[in-house]
Amino acid sequence: MLIDTYGRVATDLRVSLTDRCNLRCTYCMPEEGLQWLAKPDLLTDDEIVRLIDIAVSSLGIEEVRFTGGEPLLRPGLVGIVERVATLEPRPRMSLTTNGIGLKRTAAALKAAGLDRVNVSLDTLRPDVFKALTRRDRHKDVLDGLEAARAADLTPVKVNTVLMPGLNEDEAPDLLAWAVKHEYELRFIEQMPLDAQHGWKREGMVTAEDILASLRTRFELTPEGAGDRGSAPAERWLVDGGPHRVGVIASVTRPFCAACDRTRLTADGQIRTCLFAREETDLRGALRSGAPDEEIAEIWTKAMWGKKAGSGLDDPTFLQPDRPMSAIGG
Ligand code: SAM
Ligand code: SF4
Repeated sequence: MLIDTYGRVATDLRVSLTDRCNLRCTYCMPEEGLQWLAKPDLLTDDEIVRLIDIAVSSLGIEEVRFTGGEPLLRPGLVGIVERVATLEPRPRMSLTTNGIGLKRTAAALKAAGLDRVNVSLDTLRPDVFKALTRRDRHKDVLDGLEAARAADLTPVKVNTVLMPGLNEDEAPDLLAWAVKHEYELRFIEQMPLDAQHGWKREGMVTAEDILASLRTRFELTPEGAGDRGSAPAERWLVDGGPHRVGVIASVTRPFCAACDRTRLTADGQIRTCLFAREETDLRGALRSGAPDEEIAEIWTKAMWGKKAGSGLDDPTFLQPDRPMSAIGG
């Protein structure tokens, strides 16, 4: 089991498949991109599958989420999903993607065993999309979303970050659109994980702002008496249900006490938290021929040292060296 000193048990593994991306979202990456990881440093498909196998067979992982960077840019993605689907016990599998290229791959991913997708989309306006992502690909994302629903990669969740002065006024429009298309919308508070270190607490759109904006058009009723368990999203029924909307308020309403996550970067480092400043190397052990038991032990020890919280509330908070795209969001 991956348990820490606070008694939290990690059952959810986030696997970053690449640090590269075809968008340049302003809250994530600089316009010119980043220094990408060198190919020999990336885990191979075989190494990734082996680590996931250890995680599900020996360490109690029940859910695997593929992310990045943009995971659809990983050539071996479908093959990795196919192999993970044969592991015992079979974990639930999902993908967090910007949706570009999903139109082409959704059916193959479903056939390989992927259960569902989270697609990131921040705006319904192509011009705002271009300003936010620095690429003119709005239609590709909408097409990807439709393909995901058609391929039954459901529930299709949509992740939205609201940025002041750009799309902060779009929350009600986005919710009306999501309800109409049967997507489950979740707003994510902007976090200090951008490569440019441009995040400002004062400027961010908070959960409170988002809910106030949504309530101008919808009636929201808290789901599950405010108990969100380890799920990061607090959820509300929209106009009595059955549609829902979620808010992931990592900054203003942190959920660290219930966290059940462990993370693997594309270059084989374990991270106990998005905001951790330390990593534990598994790639070295893998490549030096360590047996599964030894790798499982390194992973267990790393998780034992997980900190109580993200430290975001602490005035001495220091942003991690790696940005979101290199950690795996
Ligand atoms: N490229 C894929 C995508 O965009 O969905 C997967 C990786 S991306 C890092 C995962 C999620 O993190 C996306 O929903 C994105 O909007 C979100 N994200 C990126 N930077 C963020 C930030 N600084 N604060 C909050 N969410 C962020
Ligand atoms: Fe790429 Fe996702 Fe970061 Fe946007 S949020 S730049 S799509 S990794």
